[in-house]
Amino acid sequence: MRHGLGFDIHRLVPGRPFVLGGLTFDHPRGPSGHSDGDVLLHALVDALLGAAALGDIGDHFPDNDPKWKGTAGKVFVAKALALVAAKGLKPTQVDSTVFLELPKLGKRKPELAAALASLLGITKDRACVKAKTMEGLGAIGQGEAIAAQVLVVLEETTAPKARRKK
Ligand code: MG
Repeated sequence: MRHGLGFDIHRLVPGRPFVLGGLTFDHPRGPSGHSDGDVLLHALVDALLGAAALGDIGDHFPDNDPKWKGTAGKVFVAKALALVAAKGLKPTQVDSTVFLELPKLGKRKPELAAALASLLGITKDRACVKAKTMEGLGAIGQGEAIAAQVLVVLEETTAPKARRKK
């Protein structure tokens, strides 16, 4: 079993769509960034890459490369999953926390968790999205930023016996 940790933070600015976990929320501000600024999926990518000791999102999808401009987070997740699969690993669980003041994620947390489960190809009972406000403190507390942290668990898809024979 392998464990990977991911973290991401983006500024929230007017005139950008609020995208989180691949879902869109009705909010006057959205994450700025070279790509879509989806902190939950970017943190998930770092967690996947980290669990497989493959570096970080910036190593694979540099934000100064025009190729990735406006790219949806789920594209990076799919590419990270392919890299992880090439190392004989697949996800079995994801847990996460989103740090933000507004919008309230409330009833959409299960929808976000289901979106992560779907992207990772795992069952919904193995995915969780939690939300925390920062009690008005700092940039996140002032509604100027959003952050997320993600833990992902991967298991080896190759039988240990078969690997020992090599
Ligand atoms: Mg990011």
